[in-house]
Amino acid sequence: MRRFSKREVAEFYRRLSASRPIPQTELEFINPFTLLVAVVLSAQATDIGVNRATPALFALADGPGKMLALGEERVAQLVRTIGLYRTKARNIIALSRMLIDEYGGTVPRDREALEKLPGVGRKTANVVLNVAFGEPTIAVDTHIFRVGNRTGLAPGKTPLAVEQGLEAVTPALYKHGAHHWLILHGRYVCKARKPDCPVCAVADLCRYGAKTVIAEMIAARAQAVTAEPLVEPKKRRKKAPTPNLPRKRRRERAGA
Ligand code: SF4
Repeated sequence: MRRFSKREVAEFYRRLSASRPIPQTELEFINPFTLLVAVVLSAQATDIGVNRATPALFALADGPGKMLALGEERVAQLVRTIGLYRTKARNIIALSRMLIDEYGGTVPRDREALEKLPGVGRKTANVVLNVAFGEPTIAVDTHIFRVGNRTGLAPGKTPLAVEQGLEAVTPALYKHGAHHWLILHGRYVCKARKPDCPVCAVADLCRYGAKTVIAEMIAARAQAVTAEPLVEPKKRRKKAPTPNLPRKRRRERAGA
């Protein structure tokens, strides 16, 4: 696979940034602590699913002290719609305790400290550093891993290799937003099963050898639409019975 030149990498990011001028996470949060919790909950789950559960949780607990007071069982009940919720609830309580005991109840702006928290790995630490503290980190999730490899921008066998590749090639100007641009591109355009190559802004730069052609893209979209559950047609409302009017009024209404 031919490597990207510096000019091509800059053009790649320029186009992605033009299509999404304000790169931001789709996870909903209030402060660094709730961001940390939302990212922990998002492991092997969708942002939409996490966003459905977190408003109720964050309304009760927007800091580690309140989360501890809520307790593991209550947290588990509040996030039970998210996969692996019991393990995640346990980690959220444990990390809340650790934040209080070791960091004065605040989220540390430090990768090593973040990675020591229960349920927090390199990817979560990178997201928190980037979104909460404005650091130019690039968290590699499943979407970015795919985009980095497929396009040839930063091929690598492991998420860490892709992260290091992206760190090396991404121009400073785009480093802070790179995580968001790449993740959104992977989520909505360069999708896992049938990427939308015919409408992709970086198609001419991408090195992927099996690009989707327009007929395939249309067929994939049609299949996605027909796979949607059928919605029952609305029942017709019964006509309201004619009120008991005096005979004279009834004749008037009938136009007699
Ligand atoms: S051309 Fe296709 S494979 Fe390449 S980045 Fe775009 S959507 Fe992904």
